[in-house]
Amino acid sequence: MDDIEQLYQDLIVDHYKHPRCAGRLENPDGESTLLNPLCGDEITLGVKISGGKIAEISFSGKGCSISQASASIMCELLKGLTPSEASSRLALFMQLMKGEIEEGDLDSLGDASCLRGVKRFAARIRCATLSWEALAKVLEELAARTD
Ligand code: ZN
Repeated sequence: MDDIEQLYQDLIVDHYKHPRCAGRLENPDGESTLLNPLCGDEITLGVKISGGKIAEISFSGKGCSISQASASIMCELLKGLTPSEASSRLALFMQLMKGEIEEGDLDSLGDASCLRGVKRFAARIRCATLSWEALAKVLEELAARTD
């Protein structure tokens, strides 16, 4: 393991042990719960919109360090963004997991780019994408509501 990988690993452990944006929102504008039965991961993601932006976003759940750290990193990254900006981050993260992301796009993923190593372990990719898939559901729910 080289220094860069060690740094990424430390970030994942830090988010797992000290999750940001942890907890369940009361009266969220959108909420979704997803399970990853292969690993036993569970994520409930809640979002509140104010002024056209994600004013509050938090998650509760249980599972492996990858799934919980990914949720924590995602929530931190998306707070204050518009739903359409969140949607483009989501698309980038899925590209990251497929190993198809352009180097220049890594910056806009912030700490989430530290999960890039997960793509080498096919069985763990769902752990990393679970919270992002929950986000996709929430964004769909929000879009349906404003139509
Ligand atoms: Zn997992």
